Order: sequence, then C-alpha cells, then structure tokens
Amino acid sequence: MEPLSIFDIYKIGVGPSSSHTLGPWKAALRFKDDLSGKTFDKIEIHLYGSLSKTGKGHATGKAVQLGLLGLEPETISVETIEITINQIRDTKQLNVNGKLIVFDPATDIHFHNYALPDHPNTLSFKAEEKGMVILEDTYLSVGGGFILKVGEPELKDRKVNLPFPINSGLDLDNHCKNTGLGVSAIVLENELHFRDRQGIDQATSEIFNTMLNSVFRGCYTEGVLPGGLNVKRRAKGINQKLLSGATFQDADEWLEAVKKSSNDFDSINRWISCFALAVNEENAAMGRIVTSPTNGAAGVIPAVLLYYYCFCKNKGMSDIQKFLFASGEIGCIFKKNATISAAVGGCQAEIGVSSAMAAGGLTEVLGGTDKQVLMAAEIAMEHHLGMTCDPVGGLVQIPCIERNAMGAIKAITASNLALSGNPADAVIIFDTVVKTMWDTAQEMNVKYKETSEGGLAFNLPVMPNC
Ligand code: SF4
Repeated sequence: MEPLSIFDIYKIGVGPSSSHTLGPWKAALRFKDDLSGKTFDKIEIHLYGSLSKTGKGHATGKAVQLGLLGLEPETISVETIEITINQIRDTKQLNVNGKLIVFDPATDIHFHNYALPDHPNTLSFKAEEKGMVILEDTYLSVGGGFILKVGEPELKDRKVNLPFPINSGLDLDNHCKNTGLGVSAIVLENELHFRDRQGIDQATSEIFNTMLNSVFRGCYTEGVLPGGLNVKRRAKGINQKLLSGATFQDADEWLEAVKKSSNDFDSINRWISCFALAVNEENAAMGRIVTSPTNGAAGVIPAVLLYYYCFCKNKGMSDIQKFLFASGEIGCIFKKNATISAAVGGCQAEIGVSSAMAAGGLTEVLGGTDKQVLMAAEIAMEHHLGMTCDPVGGLVQIPCIERNAMGAIKAITASNLALSGNPADAVIIFDTVVKTMWDTAQEMNVKYKETSEGGLAFNLPVMPNC
C-alpha cells in the first residue's frame, strides 16, 4: 500500500464535493500541465457515471474549467468563481497555458449518462489541433480529491520510507505497544518523513484556521443556498440565539465568546450542530473548506474539534495537532483498506469515515489509549454501516448538511463509550469494521452511490430546477 500523509486526507479546498469538484479540478490542472509546450486549438471534456449524473449539482463542469485556467482550489478567491465561469460562458473563450481557444461549456463539456467499467467517477480530456488529437487522458476521481490517471500508479512520485508503516489498526496498535508512544506521537514520527517540523506546524495551523474560518463565515452568512432546492442557511440563526445576537470582528474573537457561552448540555449540543451546519452550508455555496476526508462530510471534524476546543480542557495548538494526527491516520486506514468515495461506498464512506476519524481524534486528546482511539473509531463507523448516498437534486445539501451534525454527535458518543469502556472487552475490532464497510460498499446497489437515483433523491416529490 502507498504511504499516505495525514495531509493527503486533510486538504484545503472549495465546495461542494471532493470527488466531483476537487478531483476533476485537479485532473484538469494536471491535463493543462501536460499540455504545456503543445499546440492545440480545441479541448473537450467527457464526464461519465456519477460525475455526469450529479455533476451539475456538484459543480463538476465549473471545476474542470477552473482547472484548465490554472486556478488552484487552495488559493482561488472563491468570490471570483461565478464571475470567471460566467465570463467563459459569455465569451466562449478559455485561456489555457496562455493560449486563448474557443470553448463553449455547453457543447465542449459532455455529460454521459453511463459509467465506464473502471470506476463510477471517470472523466477524460481531449486536446486537438486542426482536428487531430494531440493529447487525450482519462482520470478516475477516487474520492476525497484523490485522482488517478489511467495507466499510472495513484501516487507515482511518492518515494518515502516511513519508520512506522501503518496499513491497519493492528499495525498502529503494534507500533504503540512496541514503542510506548501514543497514536499521535507515532503519526508525527511518520509525518516527519514527509515534511519538516516547521512545515507540519504550518500545515496544521492552516488546516485549523481554514476550518475555523469556514465555521465563522457560515455562522454569519444568511440566505438561500444555490441550486434551486430553496434550502435556507440555518447556522446563522442558531449562532445568533446562542450568542444573543452578538457580532465579532473576526473568528478568533468569536471563538473566545463561544468558549465563554453557556455550557449546559442543550447549548453544547446546539453548538455542535451549528458548527457542522455552518461548514456544510459554506461547502454547498462553493465556499472554502477543508476536505476531511471529503467535502460532503467536511463539517464533522471541525464540529468535534471546536467542541473539544471550546468546551473541554485543551492545550491549544499542540492538542489540535494531536487531534488532526490521530484522526488523519484513521482516515488513511479507511482510504487504504476500503474507500472514502461515496460513488464507490455510499455515505458510510463520507460521513461514516469522518465520524470515525473525529471519534479517534477526540479520544486521543481526551487522554485515551491507542486501543481506545481505535475502539472509538470502530464504534462510530459501526453505526454508519450501510448508509446510502442519495443527494437530492444532485446537490450536496439534503441530506448532506444535517448528516454532518449527526456524524459529529455520533463521534462524540463513540469517544465517550470508548473512554468509559475496556477495549479488551470489545467484540468487534477496528479492522473488522473497516473490512465490513468495504464488503458493504461492494454489495450496495449502485443507485445508492451518489447517482441521485435512489433514496431521498428519488422520493423528493418536486425536482428543483437546477
Ligand atoms: S449523501 Fe453523504 S455521501 Fe452523498 S453527497 Fe451527501 S454527504 Fe456526501
């Protein structure tokens, strides 16, 4: 198995979907780079399977155009996205590697209502010069923003030998047993082989600040989400009630106020939902979020992390790092042994994995042993097994936004159960639930895998005009 860094799992991105927005965006960037130095006068994009069926609601067409322009999801000003997309539509021109070509999104992006055999999320790019194909590549968007160019290994340039290779929960447990180190300490030793300490500190603080700012923006933005379902933003109303309408200069000031606010069970429970809804409302509006491990599930980890930060004793950035290290490693194990793609495994692969990650991270910072960290992750996933992906209207709104609040609450409950239990008494171990999730993914009917052809997506009485 390819070694993975926790920063492969945690990526700064743009909503609404990691597999349908971020992955295709990265594939387009890669295709643009591969076109460098070549002469061409036409580009076509073909979207297949789930990328086609929910691609319009998931902004796949917009993502590939932004990628071909060379704009990076990590740094693009999200406010300029619609302006840029409208400009391409109106001028029918696209600037790729400094060359202006005729490009009409309505006719040059093709949505094929069937899947190719390799993967449910496949897209291909074709560049031509005077009718002759000069470059044609096919990519698989395999979940969480990861892409695979057909014919190449997934992480082809990665050459790293980790001191503590981790391919399963058992590996992690053995490393902890043999060294006496906790989960986050083991993960840190591995991460030091991907980047230096300063780089790790910088990356974790960027991840935390991006999560915090996505919650803050969501808590102070009102209105209706785009896409035609008429879904109203709710985080702002909850935040307003909990803070009695107070406003703040920035996210840090707001966070201090949250920490000092009422901490009875009901209020804390509302805060957790508020944090999760805020992130996924931002995600649905193509805002900046942290893919963790996917965009549809991007609210779970910030909600649990801010719950810990605001309402439990914490040691600031060192605890945030520990949380991200432990939770990120849980995500890596799911990616290696099962899937983090809803098009492959349904919503158990998104909300289920994020909930298991958050449960593990929270247990680590609350002082759990490595076995309790794994037990918490196991419990959280156990109660998401079989959860289908049925986004109404192909948008990442219903049931997705509320599912993040539910995933966060389950993560906290799973952590509490693990911390008050004895892992030696557990009948189901973490690796068993990972395998079960993968088995379930393979047996799940395809209509429940991000096609909008089953479940709530099928039963919505009036389809929106997206
Ligand atoms: S239903 Fe779950 S997996 Fe599907 S798009 Fe929504 S959050 Fe993602």
